[in-house]
Amino acid sequence: MSLRNIIVVPDPLLKQIAQPIETITEDVKKQALDMVETMYDAPGIGLAANQIGCLNRIFVMDTNYRKEESSRKPIIMINPEIVWKSEEISVMEEGCLSIPQQYAEVERPKSVRVKYIDIDGEVREHIGEDLESHCIQHELDHLNGILFIDYLSRLKRNMILRKVEKMKKDGIIL
Ligand SMILES: [Zn+2]
Repeated sequence: MSLRNIIVVPDPLLKQIAQPIETITEDVKKQALDMVETMYDAPGIGLAANQIGCLNRIFVMDTNYRKEESSRKPIIMINPEIVWKSEEISVMEEGCLSIPQQYAEVERPKSVRVKYIDIDGEVREHIGEDLESHCIQHELDHLNGILFIDYLSRLKRNMILRKVEKMKKDGIIL
C-alpha cells in the first residue's frame, strides 16, 4: 500500500462527478487500500476518490480513527447509494481534508441507510447515525462534486476559500 496525495480546493477535480465502478480489478482494490492508509495518515475519518484525484465511486470511512491500529475497522464503500434518510435532522461541525483547517456547521439527516459494494464484490447495507451519517453524506457528496462549503452562504464559502489560499501562499499547506 502507499500514501496518495490529497488534493485541496480549488482543484477542479473536487467539482467533478465520479463514475461508477464496473469491475473490482486489482487496481481498484489497491486504490481502495491506499485510500484507507491515506485517510489514517492524514488523519481523517473519511476520504473519497476525488480527493486523491480519481474519478471513480469509492469512499472509505472510519469514524473511530483514533483507535489502536490493530482494532481499526475501516469501511470501504464502492458505488455507494443512499436508500433511506431520516426526517430527523442533525447539525454538526464538519471539516474536510481537501479544505484544511476549516470547519462549519452543516445540517443533514440524522440517520441514513447506504447500499454499497464491498471490496470483495458483495452488496451490503449500512446504517449510519449522527457522526457516521454526516460522514457518509459528506463523502458521497464528494463523489458528486459537492463540498460541505457548498451548503454555506456565498460570503462564508468565499471567506474559507480565501483562508485556504492564504495558507497555501504562506506555505502552511501544500
Ligand atoms: Zn471532505
